Amino acid sequence: MKIVLSTSNPNKVKEISSIVRDIEWIPRDLKVEEDGKTFEENAVKKAKTAYELYGPAVADDSGLEIYALDNFPGVYSARFMEGADYFTKNSKILEMMKDIPGEKRGARFVCVAVYYDGTPHIFKGVVEGRIAFSIRGDGGFGYDPIFIPEGFDKTFGEMSSSQKDLISHRSRAFRKLSAFLHEKEKI
Ligand code: IMP
Repeated sequence: MKIVLSTSNPNKVKEISSIVRDIEWIPRDLKVEEDGKTFEENAVKKAKTAYELYGPAVADDSGLEIYALDNFPGVYSARFMEGADYFTKNSKILEMMKDIPGEKRGARFVCVAVYYDGTPHIFKGVVEGRIAFSIRGDGGFGYDPIFIPEGFDKTFGEMSSSQKDLISHRSRAFRKLSAFLHEKEKI
């Protein structure tokens, strides 16, 4: 099965391709403005735009929600300090949280994956965790080096990509989406 994936992020294509291996993902960078107030709104908008051009398509929207910062950066995860590299962005977040103690550093990564075939089919994945006190590890991308998933002492940046794929928000959302597509194919 081949499916168009609306994204401009090569890191996501890599992760999604290793999470769902039996679908051939065709990435398309459609430059859709992500002006929604929720991950759902943005993901549906991206998937619908791709559907109008190519037929049934998938898109996701994802981000980091830090509870002590009122869920910031949330839907602004990609646009926060736009143009700056992630070392700078992660340093800024650690600076914003410098007085927040360990037990109040809770956060989660959220991914909403949408398959659009005339109507949106929405699949959500979440991984709870906490924000580290320093930038740790150079694996993954984005906010991975400051996020410690629940039950671990390592940041996503310190994990191998296969370890991250076992528990990540993206793998949780995309496994649900993949199960739905396989079920649909059988009908
Ligand atoms: P999107 O491309 O609009 O979904 O933006 C997602 C943004 O959220 C990324 O650019 C990262 O800043 C952040 N993000 C989402 N998923 C991850 C992840 O798995 N690791 C680290 N950062 C992530």
